[in-house]
Amino acid sequence: METKNIFKLISKLSFDDKRILINSLTNELFLNDLDKYRTEHTGDRPCCPKCQSERIIKNGSQNDVQKFRCKVCRKTFGLHTGTSVHYLHFKGEWMRFLELTLESKSIRSICKEMGRSRQTIFDWRHKLLSSMDNVFEKQFKGIVEMDDMLVRFNQKGRVNNFFEEVRRSQMVDGKSKRRKLSKRGNSKEQVSVLFTIDRYKTVDMKLLKRSKITIKSLERVLDNGLVDRLNTNNIIVTDYCTSYIKGLDGFTHERLNMSKKEKSRGNYHLNTLNYYCGEFKRWIGYHFRSVSTKYLQNYLNYFKMLFFVLKDSDNKQMDFFKFSLKDGQTFKRFHSTEERYLSFLSL
Ligand SMILES: [Zn+2]
Repeated sequence: METKNIFKLISKLSFDDKRILINSLTNELFLNDLDKYRTEHTGDRPCCPKCQSERIIKNGSQNDVQKFRCKVCRKTFGLHTGTSVHYLHFKGEWMRFLELTLESKSIRSICKEMGRSRQTIFDWRHKLLSSMDNVFEKQFKGIVEMDDMLVRFNQKGRVNNFFEEVRRSQMVDGKSKRRKLSKRGNSKEQVSVLFTIDRYKTVDMKLLKRSKITIKSLERVLDNGLVDRLNTNNIIVTDYCTSYIKGLDGFTHERLNMSKKEKSRGNYHLNTLNYYCGEFKRWIGYHFRSVSTKYLQNYLNYFKMLFFVLKDSDNKQMDFFKFSLKDGQTFKRFHSTEERYLSFLSL
């Protein structure tokens, strides 16, 4: 059929059918190039998703898919093994899912729009978001603002004796009310997040621990890659909290004495950071009401993608898609969420 005729036919379609057509075309375009986008990150030799070794050999192909084998742990794998699309059912709907994610839609409303079960959409959400853990790890420039942001500890969706205990401790007069937090920032009812941002919108947000920041938790986050993104040219601005003194030893460090109402000293202030802390809390509250602590790191990644990484992109959906193929450790990370959460609680 001539293209002209096809266009004529398309113009007769209803609005909804046109939309379906656009979606299926987008999917086809993206899925055809899945390998191409993945190899943008890996080259034509991905490293082993199990042991991360680069000593791999080509190992034939299955259904036109090139397979590799690791010479160290002997695992056989394909180009997408370990990424967010690994073992994904209904792959053809992934692009639509990304679009709805970009609109900050709740899991419930995505289920409704896509006609998929809650479990499917829930898994998709967290596969996608855990693939964003190590995206946008740029070097910080100039003045760097650092502070711990406090978020309410939340056990949404968990039924368990231990957590029942926590719930009871939050009851007032036999009723499960949202109790006002006793001592601000000092209780186990909150979790702390290390928020780091420079004046060029390079950002890092990592879960520290339950309750307030400590030297140990700060050092753990720094050692997990943050310290490599800072250099001796940076001037790190924090509040007066003593954890930062030891943690940031070796860096130029300016402390603001907030308790003496020192909110800024020349160019040193935490205004950028405080603004985005507010944005994060407003965004969560508006779109998702609350987020369980178990998945908080994923929502921090989500915020980072929407408000920083994809903010000025001309094709957000496409860029989001490309980023979702970057990390070969995603599958493993997604399946160890519970394990990692339990070890977080024991910190
Ligand atoms: Zn291996």
